[in-house]
Amino acid sequence: MSKNTRIVIATHNKHKVAEICAILNIPGCEFICLDDLGITEAPEEDASTFLGNARIKARFAHQKTGLPSLADDSGLEVDALDGAPGVFSARYAGVQASDVDNNAKLLEELGDLPAEMRTARFICAVVLIDQEGNEMVAVGSTAGRIGFEPRGSNGFGYDPLFLVKSYDYERTMAQLDASVKNTLSHRFKALSILREGLALELSKASSGTLPAAPNATDVETSTEPVSGSHAGCSHGGSIGSPTKKPVEIVVFDFDGTLIDASSPVKLISRLNRDRIMTRRSVGLSLVWGVKYKLGLRRDQIKPRRYVFASFKDFHASDANAIMKNLYHEELRNCLRPEALAALEEHRAQERHIVVVSASFEPIIRELCADLDIEDFLCTRMEISDGSYTGETLGMPPEGIEKLTQLTQWANDKFGVDGWIVTHAYGDHHSDVHVMETAQHPIAIDPDRKLERVAKKRGWQTPKW
Ligand code: IMP
Repeated sequence: MSKNTRIVIATHNKHKVAEICAILNIPGCEFICLDDLGITEAPEEDASTFLGNARIKARFAHQKTGLPSLADDSGLEVDALDGAPGVFSARYAGVQASDVDNNAKLLEELGDLPAEMRTARFICAVVLIDQEGNEMVAVGSTAGRIGFEPRGSNGFGYDPLFLVKSYDYERTMAQLDASVKNTLSHRFKALSILREGLALELSKASSGTLPAAPNATDVETSTEPVSGSHAGCSHGGSIGSPTKKPVEIVVFDFDGTLIDASSPVKLISRLNRDRIMTRRSVGLSLVWGVKYKLGLRRDQIKPRRYVFASFKDFHASDANAIMKNLYHEELRNCLRPEALAALEEHRAQERHIVVVSASFEPIIRELCADLDIEDFLCTRMEISDGSYTGETLGMPPEGIEKLTQLTQWANDKFGVDGWIVTHAYGDHHSDVHVMETAQHPIAIDPDRKLERVAKKRGWQTPKW
């Protein structure tokens, strides 16, 4: 990265540029937007994920200008609506829909679903493409729940309905001061990760990967920087520093991928058999199980919640023993031979294996000890006075959170520009965020949504 690098922000929205500049406030970078270069078109954002759309916008700006280009894409995911509105957040109630229309539709879709089932998150994906086409990505998310009526007048979009988890769901995003929102927002988190990497690149200024920006006249038209000298950005992406060979990472999902089974389902039936689950959790998981059998549901989030609830006040060592036994007595037999062969193949190529799964820590720990895998990211339960509280420690790595945690883990372990994801294996559409960052995404026995994405993008879908 050269000093005085000019970076194009792939947007026509000046507010977004100002916000990005404020967060990526590093001397040595200058941000401009497409309008400053006289570029008025916008690409079609037809990807199925935030990351995919951010990548489309960044690539478009890079192709048009030849300059390093940065783009973001954001929106809301609601668990009970299977991730909707997702990439359709801005036009949930129709192409011309206002924020009020979108919020009204969201409330209607959720109806009177109880508060604890209205979990949601804002997500922001950012992509930076350098002059040579190398890519860095970062993702941030903010957890919350959808309320029953709009509250507050700050912010925009779904803010009045979004009850913020870190405020114990007592305040909506629209009831928070802009300065407070900025420190906990998904956009702030994604850009902060990116900022770290950009700062690092800038510190290597003399041997930089991003050459100095050409003059405005070298591109399409004359330009004024929007906001003096600012910048920020980081890694998490598919292409590492050209100066040092990055560590090649292979990501395996567990349920439905490494094993031909679902560990929460097996755990629930064991807890049920041993009369450990509460009656309510048994009832709810039975309904879920019937839908699962009928192929209506592959959502793993709900059964996990029933398990959390059952383990509340359970002595951690007893709960751990149950899960450890489950692995050895049942799950181990469900390991796919093809997955074991793929593991060996990647090891032979000296790639670094990591299991990223929302399954529970005692199960994944046992699996990794068994298969000699050093690293894993999974759901950890909160323990107080030796007992499970029924809450998780941090967010479970599912959906976009898999990518967020993977990025953070890899940045910490290998440095922001010291790694790439070469292969990512998944079976569920929520794995798509991680799969998209891999050079070789591989869909194993995919659900219908993932199958569609895999087909569209030409991803491998081997028969395992
Ligand atoms: P975009 O990435 O700025 O195009 O955002 C897409 C849509 O997601 C917006 O129109 C909003 O409906 C929603 N959205 C994204 N970020 C936020 C936020 O911070 N608060 C509320 N809604 C948001």
